[in-house]
Amino acid sequence: MELTNIGTVKELLNKNGFSFSKSLGQNFLINPAVCPKIAETGGCHKGAAAIEIGTGIGVLTKELALRCDKVVAVEIDERLKPILSETLSEFDNIEIVFADVLKTDMKKLIEGKLSGFGEIYVCANLPYYITSPVVMKLIEDRLPIKAVTVMVQKEAAERICAQMGTRECGAVTAAVNFYSTPKMLFRVNRGSFMPQPNVDSAVIRLDISTEPRYKVKDDELFFKIVRAAFSQRRKQMLNPLSQALGIGKSSLSEMFTECGIKTNARPEELKMEDLAALCDRISEK
Ligand code: SAM
Repeated sequence: MELTNIGTVKELLNKNGFSFSKSLGQNFLINPAVCPKIAETGGCHKGAAAIEIGTGIGVLTKELALRCDKVVAVEIDERLKPILSETLSEFDNIEIVFADVLKTDMKKLIEGKLSGFGEIYVCANLPYYITSPVVMKLIEDRLPIKAVTVMVQKEAAERICAQMGTRECGAVTAAVNFYSTPKMLFRVNRGSFMPQPNVDSAVIRLDISTEPRYKVKDDELFFKIVRAAFSQRRKQMLNPLSQALGIGKSSLSEMFTECGIKTNARPEELKMEDLAALCDRISEK
């Protein structure tokens, strides 16, 4: 079945009485060039396994299953069950778990369903309303995965792949850079989806490092600092940090100075090395 043919997709959805849920971010890919490209740039190959988040009608799932030995997908919408059993009927290497990815213990899922695979790749066209939490979860849970290749809203892609120390960066940029190397792969215009969203998209790849790329004494404290510092991105970070960490402003500004950070610094001015140095200094207090 041609899952990028608009007529075929409409017929399939009508037959099953399926209507798109805007709140679940259901914009399905209908550009035939995109899914094979995600699977290939995402690292899929024989001997490896893939994890997908959000199957929709299975257009990307299929491409992953053609290239990998096994695919495990997490999809929240059980209305897609009968559709997927039709569209993916020819594959015996796909397992779909109907659950909310944000409430799923991904480590357990991998141990239970993908043990024995040395290489696991996450590939997805993410529901945009949860892009940052999903990316943060995949990164922070320290899963045994090689790379995360996901389609996200263009602006989110630019934020995630931004250089630290520039106006474009945010908490997600720092979190992603701590455990992975992000790369912008290619842009996808809004006309590639049904229904058409009112934003353009981009596919990014995060290559996961086995060890954090920046050594700090306390990883948890690092993420706490990042969240607090970027909670008001354009403002000076001394106040929000002082409140979040319960450290007086004068002691904290001394620590800033010891780390070579201006006391009136804004988070967007900092490099990863500055955040790491500050984290280690604060952890000594
Ligand atoms: N992969 C398909 C494609 O490219 O056409 C569908 C992508 S669509 C942008 C996002 C998919 O994620 C939808 O199928 C939606 O039901 C699913 N989804 C939304 N929220 C989810 C969640 N919290 N956990 C798992 N899946 C979710």
